[in-house]
Amino acid sequence: MKSYSEWKALSETLTLHGQAYINGGFQPAVSGETFDCVNPATEQLLTTVASCDEADVNIAVANAREVFKSGEWSQKHPRERKQIMLKWADLIEQHKDEFALLDTLDMGKSINEMVNIDVPDAIDCFRWTAESIDKVYGEIAPTGNDTLALISHEPVGVVGAITPWNYPLLMVSWKIAPALAAGNSVVLKPSEKSPLSALRLAELAVEAGIPAGVLNVLPGFGHTAGKALALHMDVNVLAFTGSTRVAGMLMGYSGQSNMKRIWLEAGGKSPNLVFADCDIKKAAAGAANAIFANQGEVCIACSRLYVEKSIKEQFMAALIEEAARFQTGDPLDPATTMGPMVDAAQLQTVERYVRSAVEEGGEVVLGGLPEYVEGQGFYAKPTIVDKAHNGMTFVKEEIFGPVLAVCEFETEAEAIALANDSEYGLGAAVWTENLSRAHRVSGQIESGMVWVNTWGEGDSTVPFGGVKASGNGRDKSLHALEKYTDVKKVLIRL
Ligand code: NAD
Repeated sequence: MKSYSEWKALSETLTLHGQAYINGGFQPAVSGETFDCVNPATEQLLTTVASCDEADVNIAVANAREVFKSGEWSQKHPRERKQIMLKWADLIEQHKDEFALLDTLDMGKSINEMVNIDVPDAIDCFRWTAESIDKVYGEIAPTGNDTLALISHEPVGVVGAITPWNYPLLMVSWKIAPALAAGNSVVLKPSEKSPLSALRLAELAVEAGIPAGVLNVLPGFGHTAGKALALHMDVNVLAFTGSTRVAGMLMGYSGQSNMKRIWLEAGGKSPNLVFADCDIKKAAAGAANAIFANQGEVCIACSRLYVEKSIKEQFMAALIEEAARFQTGDPLDPATTMGPMVDAAQLQTVERYVRSAVEEGGEVVLGGLPEYVEGQGFYAKPTIVDKAHNGMTFVKEEIFGPVLAVCEFETEAEAIALANDSEYGLGAAVWTENLSRAHRVSGQIESGMVWVNTWGEGDSTVPFGGVKASGNGRDKSLHALEKYTDVKKVLIRL
């Protein structure tokens, strides 16, 4: 790992591309409009970025459709498509420090997390998905001897992707790797709060050999570029990661336009169930990590902690000790475990929920209200609020910050009921040394993912996604390919 001073020096040499990447080249928005891209740790301007809107979306989608129809990418031999995507992954790896810096500067995540999680996971996503291209087979249906029915998976055409800012490079990778592997063209609108790594990714795609126009990146706002993409009549599939509020709007846009298929990875309010038969030290370390990693700006953050009453006191002491590992600081310093919130609005959201937690009877046992100093970054404090219950606003709503609600339970059935008492169903963690309980509880939790005696771990082989208001469909694993392909039947009478 490079030192703090090395990362700082390197950050000053970076070239930041802020223009849209359309049809294999950087270009300004048709309107000429730009917006500011600000470093949340310093509040200083990094660069200005093209503010794309409907006009740019129309151009990009038309290009994407044309190149799709040409077959240059969509009909390329699977082995060749695989080789190009593997080369792309190699290029990302060659520029891994640059990618680590881009997201750290853009949204405030610690360089340590970028180096150890986001960048290697993104590279692995591209490699693993590329490898799948010439290994996924179609089917022959058992229709009898007088017919032959072939079932194949075909690319859908033009995929629109809209992504959030909390894992800028990784969330983009989870969408575009399978969409491109399946042979589609993609028009991506990254979050206006973190567009830089996606733009660099697109440039490297063309360098690797992906034909111009297959991957287009349009920075811009949700209500302009995002909405235009979601309403476009020639986009076949829209893949989204972001809030539940916007996810609902996208379903409406689909209905108002061409009924494009909508895949949603939305918000969460994940529960963490700590049973008396757990390893307390491990559970406390896991619970702290599950809310304070990435400043709590994590969709699967376990922001609701339910602890069995008989161990509550002992567990809380261990939790507060473990929480001390999370210290705010300059995200370019590898020793920093918590960077700033992405912007002033996100910091104000955290502040609002801490206030409401106290007003509704919560007891702050760690952290508390942020102490913002103008010009010195949007830092929140790791915060734990005890004496919480499911009726409180900050226990029900997603905060997307480092604020943990602590509740207690007495029986397994009560713990499950409390965990499931949420509109969301993304992740959950269960801490117990009892194998039967682990199976029993994880089987009854209403969520797309359950971790037992760990939190947040994943792998390219394993799907990621939620149920209820947390969304539908799955990123990662072979299931991700289902989002970007249509099933086709050809039946031949013999
Ligand atoms: P957001 O919903 O505000 O924005 C997400 C994207 O949608 C951005 O690119 C934004 O510009 C765009 N957008 C906003 N309004 C739009 C509109 N009217 N039409 C089209 N696009 C629009 O979410 P965010 O603040 O960027 O990210 C945080 C949210 O993302 C949290 O709720 C978090 O839980 C969720 N998230 C979910 C997952 C998951 O896998 N389930 C992963 C990461 C983040």
